[in-house]
Amino acid sequence: MEEIGQPLVIFIASASRSGSTLLDLLLGSHPLGVSTGEVRRLQGFLLQDRRLLSLRDEDYPLICSCGKPIGQCSFWMEVEKTFGASLGETVFKTRQKRIWRSLLMAFYLAWGPAGVRLLARAWAPLRQETEIGLNCIRLHKAICSVSGASFVVDSSKSIYHYVLLHLAAPELVRLMVLLRDGRAVAYSMVRGSRAKHWKQGGMPPFLQAAKQWSTTTRGILLLSRRTPSSHRMLVKYEDLCRDPAKILEEVAKRWGFPPWEHGFQETRGQTHIIGGSPSIRFEGSASSIELDESWKQALSPGELEAFERVAGRLNRKLGYT
Ligand SMILES: [Zn+2]
Repeated sequence: MEEIGQPLVIFIASASRSGSTLLDLLLGSHPLGVSTGEVRRLQGFLLQDRRLLSLRDEDYPLICSCGKPIGQCSFWMEVEKTFGASLGETVFKTRQKRIWRSLLMAFYLAWGPAGVRLLARAWAPLRQETEIGLNCIRLHKAICSVSGASFVVDSSKSIYHYVLLHLAAPELVRLMVLLRDGRAVAYSMVRGSRAKHWKQGGMPPFLQAAKQWSTTTRGILLLSRRTPSSHRMLVKYEDLCRDPAKILEEVAKRWGFPPWEHGFQETRGQTHIIGGSPSIRFEGSASSIELDESWKQALSPGELEAFERVAGRLNRKLGYT
């Protein structure tokens, strides 16, 4: 058990379509917690800038989960006041290219957070990038202060973004690695209208999605090793759906929160979260906790075989057989 002094940030790292919004809502339902969703997207939501958000889905709603645009939501307006600077003009998300991000991650893996911080003192572009993490931590502190919470849940998912937070405040961040069966993820990524968001003509969208899941998951597992084991937890989406109370109990024990006495509370209309799965963040009810295994019927033997070639080894290594 550890003392809760400064507000903690519980960061959920996962591939897309892995249940991060659900886990965010469950953790944030604690009386001492607050959910924020994909808070790194705050600026893009505020400015209603789909390019900044790299959104492929044109119908994705750019509003807070309370139903209002962020600029008119009283919670975020109050947070901005406490934050002390314009949220629309503050950068919370990297704008660096993939190659640059890979370089930073390689430094982080090789030297750890202390080594990267040292290098950032001497190299201005790196310092500017690490300032994004500092902006986010300041934002999290403002969120905690406005909501009266002791911990904030950030389901920004990206492990690169987590690295920026970890560089900024290694003592305050806690990492939750959320895993889900790659076959379910890849199926969910291409289901219905999502299929058209993938490159057409070459590799089938389902296999592109399987590859993306595999790359993202490998990256998360590799980079999470730089966080001390006492500050990280691994959760499987399937276990979370089967027995959410058990997972919450483990989180409380591990990070020193009082237990979740009343289980998951309905959060419909009461949260102010950004991004994530629209159906879950607007709904926020216990009915969201249902294990979706439709992929088992939907995927053909040929698709399962192709998945096996692309990502089967990793999936089995994670215990999915
Ligand atoms: Zn709101």
